Amino acid sequence: MHNVRAEHPFHLLIKPIGPLCNLDCEYCFYLEKEQMFGDKHSFRMTQATLERLTQQYIEAQPAGAQEVNFAWQGGEPTLMGVAFFQQAIDLQRRFGREGMRITNSIQTNGTLLNDEWGAFLKENDFLVGISIDGPEDLHDHYRKTKKGEGSFQQVLAGLGILQKFGIDYNVLCVINRVNAEHPLEVYGALKALGAEHIQFIPIVEYSADPAPRLIPQTIPEQAVPVSLTFQIDAADIPKVPGAAGVSDRSVLPAQFGDFLLAIFNEWRQADIGRVFVQQFENLLATLMGRGPGICVHAPVCGRSLVLEHDGGLYSCDHFVDPQYSLGNISQHALADMVESPQQRKFGTDKFTTLNSECKSCPYLKLCYGGCPAHRLPRVSPKGDTSADASAQTHNYLCEGYKRFFGQASRPLISLIAR
Ligand code: SF4
Ligand code: SF4
Repeated sequence: MHNVRAEHPFHLLIKPIGPLCNLDCEYCFYLEKEQMFGDKHSFRMTQATLERLTQQYIEAQPAGAQEVNFAWQGGEPTLMGVAFFQQAIDLQRRFGREGMRITNSIQTNGTLLNDEWGAFLKENDFLVGISIDGPEDLHDHYRKTKKGEGSFQQVLAGLGILQKFGIDYNVLCVINRVNAEHPLEVYGALKALGAEHIQFIPIVEYSADPAPRLIPQTIPEQAVPVSLTFQIDAADIPKVPGAAGVSDRSVLPAQFGDFLLAIFNEWRQADIGRVFVQQFENLLATLMGRGPGICVHAPVCGRSLVLEHDGGLYSCDHFVDPQYSLGNISQHALADMVESPQQRKFGTDKFTTLNSECKSCPYLKLCYGGCPAHRLPRVSPKGDTSADASAQTHNYLCEGYKRFFGQASRPLISLIAR
């Protein structure tokens, strides 16, 4: 006896070309996944897998579900070409359920977009997420081509296609230790490019280096309008052994909070109702009692899973790892894997493994400990990790969250009261 339908709504991020990408962004956690699948592996999703996933994803939606969203990600999903996505649309029409709306979104670096893509995305009403890390100098610091050159100009051309065809888009901006020092330049550049919907994604990269280096600044000085003389307090960098350290690209906790706050203060003066920043909208919704819109600040997660190019299902985008494999849609029903004890535990662990600091935190109901992928082991002053590792992990970004929730909540509450 297996489940044809899941009990509750769930969402899939679909990776039709696995980790392959035409760019070589230095911080991309996903590129290293190439090694997980082996040298000779083909990363292109086959027609059979596409068909199976389309049928199962639609079928597996709970009874009464009115919408299902296909979210295409990579790597760089546009490497699959327009014809692949036309097949996907045809299959969605074939397997669509009476009364159910089917939508598509795609996350792209934008560099391969052309008129053919523009016409296709518009005609099929795709919502596009495009990655831009700020103005050219800051964007190009990490987001590079395979030749090691900056990708900003190519991204700009792709953005031009979206604008030319009137395609709905949002900007995904990765916050790293370099651009985090320039919040208003980043925000101003995104607004100048026409962005109205923005998501800021903090980088937290584990590093095997036990003492992550301070930022060696390599941006040419004339390229950066604001002084780069910021000091990184070594005490801000967790001194944890082995893989529990973070890379020198990772945003610092307080730096992330200050970044959000600087933009928040600008936004509330000038942009409320004109620019939608996911973190601000999420906090506002939570304060209004509508619950968090993002899994990171929900008490329980695990309803946003990843379907790899080969049909393999994983617990979450941050956990595409053999340990979090739930099986393959060629062998198991999607709904069974989504509702499996393993996946339910993955979701509830987010809350049950919170440590005592989170449980007694004044911001618990706004934060819920953040994303488990950002929890690092705690260390004693002597440098030993705790014996009870799960209870002693703590969100690396905590200090930033405290700053942001502590200072942004009150102005938002007065906004609600108006
Ligand atoms: S692990 Fe993090 S990103 Fe994944 S579903 Fe949970 S909160 Fe969201
Ligand atoms: S702000 Fe820090 S202590 Fe509070 S719930 Fe979030 S991670 Fe835990």
